[in-house]
Amino acid sequence: MNITQEEMMSSTMECSPVSRVVIFGGTHGNEMSGVTLAKHWLKDPSELHRTTFMAEPCLANPLAVNKCVRYIDSDLNRCFSEDVLSSADSDNDPYEFKRARELNQRYGSGCLYDFVFDLHNTTSNMGATLLRCSKDDALSLHLANYLQSSSGSVSMPCYNFLIDIPKKDNIYLQNIGKHSCCIELGPQPQGVTRADVLSRMRQLVNCGLDFLDLFNHGKEFPSFQTDIYRVLSRVDYPRDSFGEISAFIHNDLQDKDYVPLKPGDPIFTTINGEDLFYDGEKVVYPTFINEAAYYEKKVAFILTEKVSWKVPALKLKTPEDHHGTPK
Ligand SMILES: [Zn+2]
Repeated sequence: MNITQEEMMSSTMECSPVSRVVIFGGTHGNEMSGVTLAKHWLKDPSELHRTTFMAEPCLANPLAVNKCVRYIDSDLNRCFSEDVLSSADSDNDPYEFKRARELNQRYGSGCLYDFVFDLHNTTSNMGATLLRCSKDDALSLHLANYLQSSSGSVSMPCYNFLIDIPKKDNIYLQNIGKHSCCIELGPQPQGVTRADVLSRMRQLVNCGLDFLDLFNHGKEFPSFQTDIYRVLSRVDYPRDSFGEISAFIHNDLQDKDYVPLKPGDPIFTTINGEDLFYDGEKVVYPTFINEAAYYEKKVAFILTEKVSWKVPALKLKTPEDHHGTPK
């Protein structure tokens, strides 16, 4: 199903140069790859210099990082709604509402950054998931393609993940930038730093910065075809009449993120070993299976469909292009 083929058929996309780049770690204070990298880069940002820009590291939720918890009062990565951002601070606000406004002022509406990286870990077996909330961000899709094609022999696969929502309904931190990509690596337990996951995250960010630098230098990137996993629905655990979880992720589904789930496949099992089966009508691709942080959100896994997109070629928009008057 190529639903966006027509939308993305324009032969070449032109984007302005990318000069302001921010890399958020610790948006969730217990996702340690981003926390560790942001802290390191705040002490020594030399690794983030490129010839055409200097990326800026930022610890997004420093209070949550200090306590090694996901958030203090409210999930920061759900606080970037128009409602929250346009309201004035009040004493009763959750800490993260105020922090979201600060970050938006500094990197979003106050001074629009060109590219936002937001670094996360998941406890699910998601490999390297490149998550975005806009299907129209061709620059970000080219960056993802560059990361995928630069992965070479690296064992951790790279997936394109799309939460397809209108910008006005976007509540995620990455929404504040002009272009963005959330890098979600797993599996890694909360509060734990695994060296292999850390080095993969670092490599992906550096590779992304290299791509943006090449783009700024005028390198043109050809059109390509890519697979996107687009969110269909969120599935809750089975619950008893008290609202308690009554069945758990089935052993056959555990760690099978991005593996096709067919009608009739087992998805849950009760404590007594009774299996429950997927009753959908088509093959889907489950993700965020048994993610620890999603128990409170009543999400056992997120179902996606795999769609193939043609992404148009990408080139730098020059001032001449912009005004249509070559020098
Ligand atoms: Zn996270």
